[in-house]
Amino acid sequence: MLTRFAPSPTGFLHLGHAYAAEQAFSLGPCLLRMEDIDNTRSRPELVDAIYEDLRWLGFDWPEPVRVQRDHMADYQGVIEALNARGLLYEDYTTRTGRENRDLPPAIKLSTARAVKALGTDQLSFQEGSKTIPIDLTQLEDKTLVRRDIGTSYHIAVTHDDWLQNITDVGRGCDLYEKTPVHVLIQSLMGWPVPRYHHHALVMETADRKMSKRSGSQTIRSLRESGRSAAEVLDLARASVDRPAP
Ligand code: GLU
Repeated sequence: MLTRFAPSPTGFLHLGHAYAAEQAFSLGPCLLRMEDIDNTRSRPELVDAIYEDLRWLGFDWPEPVRVQRDHMADYQGVIEALNARGLLYEDYTTRTGRENRDLPPAIKLSTARAVKALGTDQLSFQEGSKTIPIDLTQLEDKTLVRRDIGTSYHIAVTHDDWLQNITDVGRGCDLYEKTPVHVLIQSLMGWPVPRYHHHALVMETADRKMSKRSGSQTIRSLRESGRSAAEVLDLARASVDRPAP
């Protein structure tokens, strides 16, 4: 078994990351991956701070770390493979719901064409020991190439989980709803579908998950205020209050 922890360097790590890292690293041998393809949000200068915070928390990982921005051609290759099979289409609709042909289009995966290519509209994945069915007739078309970054999280994460032979994915339950499109891409590409373990989220308040804006709860600020790594991990665990799906 092999798992991974895959933060995006869009801010300093906070309590939510401490908990997520603990969940991922406790599943088994764990790789670290930097998911930094979103150049509108990622801050490369934070990568070293993330390594430092994770080491301070007591985590360790094999080198080299896969840094996604160095592998954009790999993600492009997946897009080209899906496109060559006629599964993708251009969408000029912008966020406002209107068409704008002056901007590059987003590229979407046609679920209907994917169903034809697969010969089935039913897929499934393992969530822990449970089998979760996926009814593709209910899955709307997803964007696989964002017009602003030229690829997408869906493509990069599934490609890298395959490339790195990840058997088990531990991640927050806010990503649970993304799993059907991940399984669809894996099925189309002939990649094994890893077992998923979505965990509960650290909450900032009863109804709001911890976010990058939670400046006072960064690992760094807690460390500077004199907390030990064990105390920070305890605090993270104590702030989890939503059951995983
Ligand atoms: N990079 C994603 C995040 O920071 C995690 C992706 C995943 O685990 O699938 O939320």
